[in-house]
This record gives sequence, structure tokens and C-alpha cells, in this order.
Amino acid sequence: MTISSDKVVIIGAGPAGVACSYALGKEGQSSLVIEKNTNIGGLCQTIDFNGYLFDIGGHRFLSKSKIINDLWNRIMKSDLLRVERLSRIFYRKKFFDYPLSFFNTFWNLGAVESAQSIASYLYARIARDADDNTFEGWIINRFGKRLYRIFFKSYTEKIWAMSCNNISADWAAQRIKGLSLRVAIKTALLRNKKTTPTTLAQSFLYPRRGPGEFFNNLAQVAAKHGARFEREKIVTGIKHDSGRILSVEVKHTNCHGKEEIPVEYLFSSIPLPCFIKSLIPPPPIDVIDAASRLNFRSYIAVNVVINKENIFPDQWIYIHSPEVRLGRIQNYKNWSPAMVVDPKKTTLGLEYFCTEGDNFWKMSDFNLIDYAVGELERTGIVSRKHLITGFVVRRSEVYPVYCLDYHKHLQVVRSYLDQFSNFQPIGRAGLFRYCNSDYAMLTGIFAAKNFLEKISYDIWKLGAEQEYFE
Ligand SMILES: Cc1cc2nc3c(=O)[nH]c(=O)nc-3n(C[C@H](O)[C@H](O)[C@H](O)COP(=O)(O)OP(=O)(O)OC[C@H]3O[C@@H](n4cnc5c(N)ncnc54)[C@H](O)[C@@H]3O)c2cc1C
Repeated sequence: MTISSDKVVIIGAGPAGVACSYALGKEGQSSLVIEKNTNIGGLCQTIDFNGYLFDIGGHRFLSKSKIINDLWNRIMKSDLLRVERLSRIFYRKKFFDYPLSFFNTFWNLGAVESAQSIASYLYARIARDADDNTFEGWIINRFGKRLYRIFFKSYTEKIWAMSCNNISADWAAQRIKGLSLRVAIKTALLRNKKTTPTTLAQSFLYPRRGPGEFFNNLAQVAAKHGARFEREKIVTGIKHDSGRILSVEVKHTNCHGKEEIPVEYLFSSIPLPCFIKSLIPPPPIDVIDAASRLNFRSYIAVNVVINKENIFPDQWIYIHSPEVRLGRIQNYKNWSPAMVVDPKKTTLGLEYFCTEGDNFWKMSDFNLIDYAVGELERTGIVSRKHLITGFVVRRSEVYPVYCLDYHKHLQVVRSYLDQFSNFQPIGRAGLFRYCNSDYAMLTGIFAAKNFLEKISYDIWKLGAEQEYFE
């Protein structure tokens, strides 16, 4: 079956939307992709700032899916680098290996703290009395209370701004599945790749000029197959009747223009609660209520150019020190040398997690740069005097919050959406799933297959065990 290109509509040109348009195009189905941003790639875009390239948080390409690995290789060819991973935890002014390695961890902690940590781990293994349904309990059962406090609590609370008691263990199970102190010891002692859980992947792929390059190239191939990308247009309304989507209302972001586009089939990667809010007429009140309880954390990167050739060798560092708000530092030339126009300079992404509209989110760019560089200086990693320039990137609705009862609310929304015969949600925020770009792409590809081949892969459940996480 093929439908006129203007009537198969994809909302969002992030990994899910671009992959969907590509998969449709390859089978002769053209599509219209509506994107509110100027750039293609969503959270995977690469931003050019005076010739220096910045990701929205470094994006490693790592997938267990042959479909995705083949696609990365086919599109990027020799411009896909294999990067040996180095990413450590910064805590008490010391660098700890991450994934945690047994010897380095205990060397840095010192004899007394190490003995206490091992005792607390053994107690946790025997007692097994922490609640495995919460993030806190899940980690304590696998690492003990002391290591939990040192290596998981502060960073996790920086991301989610809530107590680890109120975070679902789903997030831990998804993010660090297969990892425990026992596994870390086994990996350290045996150096056995077969025992290496997903979190411990030692190398990854990375496009020479950042992930945005891949998604731009993929979009170009999709365009050759008939996809049309309309940028700087935002979907503000979705009309429906009798279980069918009829049209989307689209506003131009740079003028007052508005249009209504008829839809025969719709794929949407916009955040699920926004989708529900955009429906005309609105859904029943219980669906609106459930969607409003699906919350996201937002993200700010203060990107800086530093007048120093070498700062640290890692691609990124997790900042666990509770005395600063700073969550992570990316060092882009360690991802690919092509990310810096001048090799004598270093570019850093200082990453913060916040809630859209809170005081941190509302700070001016100038104040944010000042604040972030001040924190960087306090860590002792770089002094303020080396700062050349910087800019700020804000992204809302980035991290789906897995609070304890999110499943219940998600189920209400899903059941309601199932009624639409010509619609599929795709992608990370579209499915309210904390997933990486490979998984987001797969949801787009399999949704396209569902449409083209009239089959029914369950997009909500697609190969979850296939994921890698941080
Ligand atoms: C800091 C950070 C680091 C990450 N690191 C990695 C990593 O190392 N490896 C990895 O694989 N993944 C990583 N990810 C995850 C990856 O970015 C996401 O999984 C992926 O971008 C999700 O793709 P998507 O298409 O579902 O959503 P998005 O990338 O969010 O794209 C959605 C698109 O929809 C557009 N849109 C939204 N609303 C509208 C509207 N109303 N109208 C029109 N357009 C709209 C947006 O502008 C956006 O372009 C990271 C994410 C973050 C935040």
C-alpha cells in the first residue's frame, strides 16, 4: 500500500522520525516529516559553534541490533570511528573507574572505607531486606548501602531531583542491568568479555563529526526516497474522529503562519503528554489526568571552549561530588579529534539536569556560564582563567521520570491510544521510555514495517533486552 506523501505524516525529525521516514522511503512510501527545530537529529544533533562541534551530551553509538549496526556502517562508511571508552567518576577529588572496577575503587576509597563497604555489601547480600522495587533498594541489594551512597545516590538525585526511594527499580534494571559488585569483581578478575554486562561495554562507535552527521546523512537518503522534511514547524493540534486521526495543525515557529495538514497515517515522536494535550477533541478526563502524571526532567548543557590542550583523557566524567550541582562533563575532542577546529583548545560540555521552568532553567545564559565555570573551577579540574567562550543549550522533556506508579498512568494512556487505527507513537518521549538512539530508531523502523506490511510488532515492548544504558 502507498499513500500520497503529504498524507503520511511523521512528527519529529529525531532518530525515531528520521529512521521511520527512511524505512518507509526504502519501500517506496514517501512521507512528510514535520520538525520544530532548524536542525535534523533531535537530541542526537550536533551543534556547530564557531567551527567547534558539540553534541547534546556525548552520544555513543552502541547497539545489539544488526539492523542498526548495518545502517550506521552503510551510511557513515569510514567516517564511523571506534572509540575506546574512558569515563570515570569524580568523587572526593579522585577519579574512580566507571564501570566500577574492583581494585581502583577500593584503592581510592582507602582501607577503612573499603572494609566498611565490603562489610555493608556482605550484609546486604545476606539480609536482602531492601525493597527491590525501588531504585535505592535495587542498588543496595547488589552493592550494599555504603557503595550505594558513594556511587549511585548523589548522581541519581542530581538527575531526578527526587529521593531514590521514589524512583522505580525499572530505571536501575534498564540502566545497569546485569551489574553488581559480584559481577564487577568477576569482570576484574577474569577479564572475561562473556561476563561483561551491557553497562560495561568498553568501546563504542562514533561518527567522525558527531551523531548529527549520521542523522543528516540518513535524512538525505530518506529525502532521495521521497521523504520531505519541513523544519521550523510545530504541531500544535491533532484532530481525530471515530478512532482515526484526520489532520494536524501546524504553526510556523518563525512567523505567524498556521496550516492544517490532512493525515491518512500518523507517526509521532513528540512527548506523549504533549500528544494527548494536542488532541482535538480532548480525550476523556482520566486519560488527560494520567498523561499529566507522566513527567520529564529537562537538561542544560553549558558548552565552553577552553584555552588548554589537554584537560583529562576521558570522553566524559560523572561528577558525584554532592557539593556541586554539575552532573557530567563531556570532553568532545576525546570522542573524535574532528570535534575541535583547533587541537590546542579543548571543548567541554558541562551538563546539568533540571525541571523546565525552575529557577535554574530560567537563569540567563550569561549567569549559567558563570555558574557552571565557577563549579568547574571548584572541582579543581580547570581554572576559570582558561575560559575563551561558551554557549548554553536547553532541552525540555528529555528524561522520562520513572516514578513508582508511572506504569499505571502509562497504561491508561496506551489503552486510549490503541483505539486509533491510523496512528503509531514512536521514539523516546513518544513512548515515554528511557531509551537510547538505536532503540528510538528501531521503534521508527518497526512502526514503518507495521504500516507497510500490515503486521503488528508491539512498539511499546520492542526488544527491551537489546538495550545498552548509562
Ligand atoms: C544528555 C543525553 C545523552 C544521551 N546519550 C546517548 C548516547 O550516548 N547514545 C545513544 O544512543 N543515545 C543517547 N541519548 C538518547 C538519545 O538522544 C535519544 O534516545 C534519541 O534522541 C531519541 O530519539 P527520538 O527521535 O525519539 O527523540 P528526539 O531526539 O527527542 O527527537 C524528537 C524530535 O521531535 C521534535 N518535536 C517535538 N515536538 C514537536 C512538535 N510539536 N512539532 C514538531 N516537532 C516536534 C523535536 O524537536 C525533536 O527533533 C542521550 C540523551 C541525552 C539527553
